[in-house]
Amino acid sequence: MQKTINKLYKSLVYDNQVSLSVLEITRLVNDAVKIHNLSDASAEILGGFLTAAAYMAGCLKSERGAVSLTVKSGDGSATVSVSGDCKGHIRGYIEGGEGGIKGGTLTVIKDDGFYRPFVGTCELKSPSVSENLMQYFHISEQIPTAVAIGVKVEGGVCKVAGGVIMQLLPGTSEENMDRAEERMQAFVNAADVVERFGADGIMSEYFSGETENAGVYLTFPEYKCNCSRAKITDVITSLGKKELENIIAEEGQVKVHCHYCNTDYIFTQKDIDKLFKA
Ligand SMILES: [Zn+2]
Repeated sequence: MQKTINKLYKSLVYDNQVSLSVLEITRLVNDAVKIHNLSDASAEILGGFLTAAAYMAGCLKSERGAVSLTVKSGDGSATVSVSGDCKGHIRGYIEGGEGGIKGGTLTVIKDDGFYRPFVGTCELKSPSVSENLMQYFHISEQIPTAVAIGVKVEGGVCKVAGGVIMQLLPGTSEENMDRAEERMQAFVNAADVVERFGADGIMSEYFSGETENAGVYLTFPEYKCNCSRAKITDVITSLGKKELENIIAEEGQVKVHCHYCNTDYIFTQKDIDKLFKA
């Protein structure tokens, strides 16, 4: 049983020139492990990307914002999809992945809910989520970002998931770049550090003197899918009555599966009749 809650700290450090995020989302990853009944290897990969999604969701500015990350491994053996919104609701699933992710692409879609979504893609050069995320920020967003994400899953239980991420703001002095880089060395084995200190401990142990003049924001991400019968109903209604009746004739029912929360939505002939009565 995980007693800890999921935490995301955000603050500016080093003369307010570096944006710091500290995450501990062990419980969130355990929720995902339970929903999807994952192997340890797959759970570690999904956990890494859920941590990335929690971080990127925490950076969203708009109330209607959402972000999604999709990974397709080069050999077609694994697909990962995670997404999050500004409420800190994070969800995701993985197909395959027992053998790790070998090459492929990472696609990020950031939607502020108003304008056209920002889409960025990069090639996966490493089996490490942290390396791939750094690469993504470097290439697609051109923001120098240091990422140390760590996840440990043993015997079907996530022992720890979280990490530390620093992003240099425009105009960061060389001195503060060096300070950030040096501090990041402490998180090379991110899983061990998060396991030992937790997010609270990391903030006090490594950054206590740095956040005094900047606000520290604490939010609580959680695993939550945003699907609902009403939303699914809208989707299937758009198929039209005839198409739905064809499906019922063939399969006896209309079944829509949500990959993120592993839920089936079933619609019978009676449901379809009701939908189109008005
Ligand atoms: Zn769902």
